[in-house]
Amino acid sequence: MHALVIGAGPTGLALAVMLARDGHRVTVLERDAGPPPGGAEAAWASWSRPGVTQFRHPHLLLPAVFRTLRTQIPEVLDELTSMGLRPGNLLDGARRFGLLDEERPGDECFMMMDVRRPLFEAALDAVACRTAGVTVRRHTGVRALLAGRERVSRRPHVVGVLTADGEAVLADLVVDAAGRNSPVGRMLRDLGAPGPVEERDESAFLAYTRYFRAASGTEADVPLWPSAHYESVSTISCAGDAGLRSVSFFVSSQDRALRLLHREQAWDAALRLFPAEARWAGNGEPVTGVIAMSGMESRRRAYVVSGVPVATGIVSIGDAWATTNPLFGLGVSLGLLQATLLRALLRTRDADDPQRLTLGFHQVTEGILGRFHHHLGVWDRHRLAEIEGLSRQPPAVYEPGGPDWQFRRTLDTVKLRDPDILRAVAATAALLATPETAFSDPALVERVFALGRLAEQPWEPGPSRAELLAAVGSG
Ligand SMILES: Cc1cc2nc3c(=O)[nH]c(=O)nc-3n(C[C@H](O)[C@H](O)[C@H](O)COP(=O)(O)OP(=O)(O)OC[C@H]3O[C@@H](n4cnc5c(N)ncnc54)[C@H](O)[C@@H]3O)c2cc1C
Repeated sequence: MHALVIGAGPTGLALAVMLARDGHRVTVLERDAGPPPGGAEAAWASWSRPGVTQFRHPHLLLPAVFRTLRTQIPEVLDELTSMGLRPGNLLDGARRFGLLDEERPGDECFMMMDVRRPLFEAALDAVACRTAGVTVRRHTGVRALLAGRERVSRRPHVVGVLTADGEAVLADLVVDAAGRNSPVGRMLRDLGAPGPVEERDESAFLAYTRYFRAASGTEADVPLWPSAHYESVSTISCAGDAGLRSVSFFVSSQDRALRLLHREQAWDAALRLFPAEARWAGNGEPVTGVIAMSGMESRRRAYVVSGVPVATGIVSIGDAWATTNPLFGLGVSLGLLQATLLRALLRTRDADDPQRLTLGFHQVTEGILGRFHHHLGVWDRHRLAEIEGLSRQPPAVYEPGGPDWQFRRTLDTVKLRDPDILRAVAATAALLATPETAFSDPALVERVFALGRLAEQPWEPGPSRAELLAAVGSG
């Protein structure tokens, strides 16, 4: 089979290597340039990736990424090791700060990586380019899909693509790995197909990040836990490679007052109000200005509507299929797991029948990954409503719509106070369990609520909203 992959992001490249290992011929077409020569630091300093707006934002590569690479493409880990990367464990911070006293069998499933994304992509690119059967063509954008008609449904059956230069490239299967702004929906509509059905949240988070080079003698080299949720903002503290670390503030897109965080002075003043994050930045020297990112709403596209594929001969994976709130750091995890699902399906007899392939892929994707996407989206909607209530004058405390949110919110507050609760939360971050399965034991749920009753407020202790607004200059 010849598979054509649109987009050389993490999902497209990982899929290409997996399919080539199964004996398929794979062509990856990517609009942007490839990594510049000169190794890891050149990739970070000068690789231009207009196709991926978040390219220089911190990326936690959580356990599902580590696990998938270790089992499917271990050479990527070797490549990263040669760049100086050391894998870590999601529980390292809790151990370092004395909250977990013992290592338990099974803790190794929380192995993860903190590496700057340009280095991660450069490692994937190096492995893809030397894998027999894979051709990566850069500076080659896809402009349109080529299609005939499927016999039964009369919907388009995609047989290849047209590049920006007008070249036709034919394939047995086209894989849309073109990311969050994938043009494939529009291209399908141009062919007379109805296009995918898109679920999209109206509000979302904005992110404001700075990187620091840790000062020598800075205490820990991992944060206690990557994310924390305060009254009006959430934060991510990310360890990078090469002594870099970053702090990101996530604010609601409706919260206009906090948009001043894009100014360095306002950002620095805000950081001083958050002791854990300020400690993490460790009086380090900033090595970037504030990197801002908007348009991060949760979104999912369905290419099978009422049981009928919108088109055959094409499937959509990674961010092109669904995006999630970056606060969870799960985008690459979902993309890589979805690549393994497609690989597995292509090993079955469904691969020979375009209808069955499209329906089968939709079914496994929705059945396995759709559940995670649903849980993450529900959390977003509640959390944004909570922040928006607290931003009003007078502030309105968000009354949870149901026990599910109350439980999830309580978990955020208490997870670092009990080793079993922490491991169950880590299992959800590792995509080893949904919140329902990780907390199927009623005794564990009761422990969550019992600890929650001891907490003074449902968010981490930090500055009040008035203090935060005063610091950023919009009080
Ligand atoms: C601020 C922010 C922080 C994040 N942090 C994390 C994190 O900590 N951990 C995590 O796992 N995830 C994180 N994510 C999510 C992660 O970035 C995405 O899930 C990931 O990039 C998806 O990979 P992908 O390969 O599916 O798509 P992309 O990385 O978007 O790649 C798509 C590729 O397709 C190319 N392309 C597009 N159109 C065409 C075309 N017409 N022709 C040819 N090529 C085309 C693009 O140039 C691009 O290279 C974050 C996202 C954001 C916004």
